[in-house]
Amino acid sequence: MSYSIEQRDEQLLQSTADIMYTVGFEDASRHLVTVTITVSKVTTEEVTLVMPSWAPGSYKIRDFAGHQGNVEAWIVNNGVRTKAPLRWRDKASLVISTRGATAIEVTYVVYCNERTVRTNHVNRFHASIMPVATMMYVEGRTNEIHHVVLLRDAKQWPHISTALSPVSSDGRTFGALNYDVLADSPIEIGSHTVRMFNVLGVRHELALCGNHQVDADWLVAQLVTIVETEARLFEGIPYDRYVFIVWVYPGIGGGLEHGRSSVNAVDPSTLLDKAKTLDLLSLLCHEYFHLWNIKRIRPDVLGPFDYTKETLTPMLWLAEGLTSYYDDLLTYRCGFSTEREYLDILGKDHITRLMRVPGRFRMSVRDSSSLAWLKLYMQSPDANNRFPSYYLKGGVVCLLLDVYILDHTDGKRSLDDALRALWARYKENPAIGMSEQECIAIMERGCGVQFRDVLMGWLSGTEELPYDAILAHVGLTLQMNTRTAEAISFGENRAFASTSPSPFTGMMVREESGRLLVKMVEEGSPAWLAGVAVDDEIVAVDQRRVTSVALLDQYLSEPPGASHQITAQCDGRLYETQITPTSVQTWKLINVANPTTRQKELRAIWLKR
Ligand SMILES: [Zn+2]
Repeated sequence: MSYSIEQRDEQLLQSTADIMYTVGFEDASRHLVTVTITVSKVTTEEVTLVMPSWAPGSYKIRDFAGHQGNVEAWIVNNGVRTKAPLRWRDKASLVISTRGATAIEVTYVVYCNERTVRTNHVNRFHASIMPVATMMYVEGRTNEIHHVVLLRDAKQWPHISTALSPVSSDGRTFGALNYDVLADSPIEIGSHTVRMFNVLGVRHELALCGNHQVDADWLVAQLVTIVETEARLFEGIPYDRYVFIVWVYPGIGGGLEHGRSSVNAVDPSTLLDKAKTLDLLSLLCHEYFHLWNIKRIRPDVLGPFDYTKETLTPMLWLAEGLTSYYDDLLTYRCGFSTEREYLDILGKDHITRLMRVPGRFRMSVRDSSSLAWLKLYMQSPDANNRFPSYYLKGGVVCLLLDVYILDHTDGKRSLDDALRALWARYKENPAIGMSEQECIAIMERGCGVQFRDVLMGWLSGTEELPYDAILAHVGLTLQMNTRTAEAISFGENRAFASTSPSPFTGMMVREESGRLLVKMVEEGSPAWLAGVAVDDEIVAVDQRRVTSVALLDQYLSEPPGASHQITAQCDGRLYETQITPTSVQTWKLINVANPTTRQKELRAIWLKR
């Protein structure tokens, strides 16, 4: 089977298609879209249409057919439509008898009321359409050109932002060279803010959605820097047009990568302080980086896709781990953060977070990747105790690998060179992805270092990673800190009280209707040792009723280090236990004492920008 997600707009101009989707929005206010699929040049007795069960990049069975309704089929003979019999072959595959006709039509509605980067959201103000969750494919004909006609009211919704290519000047017909490109091209329709800009002679678009005050021109300026910085790493831009879709709505987050676009979701509060703004810029760097790493450089099972079932790969350490390492590194290379800020982000958001995952001793990052469908994407409250995220641990492994390569080549090569070798491999053979074996061999050749055994040890093992041994090469060491009390002072610096740090119990507690319910307990933590479990209710501390997290923190820190009696409830019955909170531990990357010239030089090469 041939596979390609490469498409240039000029290839679709004035094209014709025998598979066409017409999408109507008359019921948008009710979160409904209508879809008509017209398939012509039919030569078989039956046509099978399939609704995908998952969206590439998001490893969870979502059974998009569940949102579909009012399904009907027709055969079309000389322009006359006759109702056609249909049957479901399985939960998502529809078989239509053609009775010798050369064209068929299938109509249905899709309920679109889930605002995430891999699902549809449509209301009276806009439509965010994910084709993979909306448009069934025609079995056996996925390699043909597909057209999409969007019947929106252009006065209400003036803008359509998508990587699908315009077919004509009617402003409503778009095309894809094949179904994979269609499935990979989200569509944003509405009155959102649009900015067009050129970087390195290539057209880019920003679609900024949501009714919050975000400075689109500021965002464009940051995107220009991101594109220039990442294009420098990969020595060019591999597309003719790219669309950044940015959603700003309360309570959302995350992103999803595509071949010529990305969807990036942020809460409006994101732009209110520097740390959160850096998170947004890091997200934009991350999803944009994916256009190379995972959309093109990829494991062999992730393109071509089987849209009907789970696809297992141990290589998400590459797809997501490497991307997670580079997102903050690129944020730094873009000049958005200082060296100290970047090192602090590595300490806080990468290493400290991983150190708080007891599951890193229970499952390897490769297994966590293979089982992503059941683990990361279907997390139980006990997840943190059972496995490490391949984003988190995969990213830290890539940090160590980068420094390992720098050390073994005296700073002449880095992970950048391994990455460029993977990119060259894609360009040689874009139709086929790589095995893990081949991937590591290419990376080794790219930087001239044999690291297979070391890397596979980190990826397949469950021991603590050798932070200090590796990071010392760039003059860094890990320092563990426990937060201590801080004096509160007013006016002439007269201390009048002190704030205790939040006592560490290892349980996550949430207030629900005046009750404190345990949502998670870290293995080996004070709460774990006290026998407190998920779904228990914390009723009282030292015989004093607690109804809020603030009160719980206060009682558990009076005095710091003391042991407390906990009254809790499980299954409708009260029980008593003792808990001794400790201090929160964090890890920071600090400079080694008296760094050598070599350590200083390797640091400078590593963090050159
Ligand atoms: Zn990602």
